[in-house]
Amino acid sequence: MLIIYSMIIVLTFSVFGYIVLNNYKDKGIKREETRLFQTANIIADTYKRNMDDIIYARRMVKTYAYQANARILVVDKEKQVLIDSYNTYIGKTLDNREIRNSFNGESTFGTYTIQDEEVLQLSVPITINSNGKTETIGAVLISSSLNLVNDDVKDLRNDILRVSIFALLGALILTAISATTITSSLKELRKGIEKISTGELGYRISKGKKGEVGKFINTFNEMSRKLYNIEKNRKYFINSISHELKTPLTSIKALIDSLNIGTNTLDTYKEYLNDIKGETERMEALVQYLTDSIKLEDISLSIEIENVSKIIEETVKLITPYAVKNGVEIKLDITKNIMVRCDKNKIKEVLFNIIENSVKYKDSDKINNYVYVRLSKFKDEAILTVEDNGIGIDKADLANIFNRGFRVLENKRIEGHGIGLSIVKNILDKHGWSFSLKSELGKGSIFVVEIPII
Ligand code: ADP
Repeated sequence: MLIIYSMIIVLTFSVFGYIVLNNYKDKGIKREETRLFQTANIIADTYKRNMDDIIYARRMVKTYAYQANARILVVDKEKQVLIDSYNTYIGKTLDNREIRNSFNGESTFGTYTIQDEEVLQLSVPITINSNGKTETIGAVLISSSLNLVNDDVKDLRNDILRVSIFALLGALILTAISATTITSSLKELRKGIEKISTGELGYRISKGKKGEVGKFINTFNEMSRKLYNIEKNRKYFINSISHELKTPLTSIKALIDSLNIGTNTLDTYKEYLNDIKGETERMEALVQYLTDSIKLEDISLSIEIENVSKIIEETVKLITPYAVKNGVEIKLDITKNIMVRCDKNKIKEVLFNIIENSVKYKDSDKINNYVYVRLSKFKDEAILTVEDNGIGIDKADLANIFNRGFRVLENKRIEGHGIGLSIVKNILDKHGWSFSLKSELGKGSIFVVEIPII
C-alpha cells in the first residue's frame, strides 16, 4: 500500500511540476520576446532617422545592446552587416530565417541552442516610404541569451522538488501511521474471532477507534453479545426443560417403586397407573412444546383473506373458561368485520398466547382482574390491543421477553417454558405486522398489534 501511495504522489507532483514549469518558461520567453521586439522597433526607427550618421547609429545601437543585455545587428538591403554591437560581423552577409522573413515584411522570432546555451533571436524590418510605396532597406536582428529565464525556471523547479519531497515524506508518515492502526485493529479482530471460535462468546474488543474500523469493531462486539445471549438462553432453556422432565420422571419412579413393595389391590394398581398416566401426559406435553419450539423457525404461513374481528371473538370464546377458572374477566370491544390477509390458525395461536399470559400473570393482590381486548380501525390499519392489570414486567426484563426460553425469575412458580412470546414474535414478524409490548411492574401490560387492512 505504501508503495502505491508513494507512486501516486510522485506521479501527481511530476505531472503538476511539468505543466507548471512549461507554463512558467513559456511566459518568461514571451516577456523576453516583447521586450526585445520593442527594442528592435525603436532601433529600426532611430536608425532610419540617422542613416547618414553611421557613427551615431553605432553608438546608439551599442547603448541599447548594453541596456537590453543582447547582441544587436543592423543589416542593409544586401543583408550585409552595417552595425554589430560586438563588432565582429561587420561587412559579413547574414541570411538566416528571421532576416529573410524581415525582407518579406514580417517580424519573427525563434529559439536556438548555440553551444549549450539557449538563445532567443528576432528580427524586424527597417522600412521607408518612397513614392507612396513601402520599401525595406534593411533589418534589425537581436539575439539574447535565455539564461536568465532558464535560471528562474531552475529555481522554481528546485522549489517544487523541495515541496514534493516534504509532501511525499508527510504522506508516507501518515500512511505508515494509518496502516499500523489498521493492522493493529485487524490483529485485535482476529484475536476476537479466535476467541469466539473457541467458545468464548461475549468477548469484546476495546473501542476507541473511529471511522470504518470503529464501526467494524462495534458490529463485532454486537455480534459477540448476541451470540452470548443466544447461548445463555439455550443453556437456560435446556436447564429448565431438563428440570421439568425430571419432576414427572421422579414421581413415575416413586409410583413404580411403591407398587413393587408389598401386595397391592387391583384398585391401588389402577390408581397408581392413572397417576403414572398423568405424569406421562405432562411429559408428552413438554416434548410437544420442545418440538414446537424447534419448528419455530420453519413456520410457513397459509395466507387467506380473513375476518380478523371473527378470529378474535372465536379465540376469546376458547379461552374464556380458563379465564373464569382463574377469576379474570375478559372485556371485549371489537369493531366488526375487519378484513385482513393472514394465516387464521397462526393468528389464533398468537392471540391465545397473549391473552393466556394476561390471565396467567394476573395480580392476585387486586380484586378485579381483567383483560381488555380491543380492535379498532385507524386509517388503513386495524389496531389490536390486549391490556391487563396483572403483575406487569420489570423494565430490565422487557428487552428479553421475546427471546426463546426467557422467563422472569420471580414468576417461576407459574407454569411456563418461556416459548409463548417467541412464537408470537415469529408469527407476527412473518406476517409483517408491527407490534409492541408496554408494561409496568405492579400496574399491568398492554400488547399492541398494527394490522394492515384490505
Ligand atoms: P411463559 O409464559 O411460558 O413463561 P412467554 O414467552 O409467554 O413464556 O412469556 C415470557 C415471560 O414474559 C413470562 O415468563 C412472563 O414472566 C412474562 N410475561 C409475558 N406476558 C406477561 C403479562 N401479560 N404480564 C406479566 N408478565 C408477562
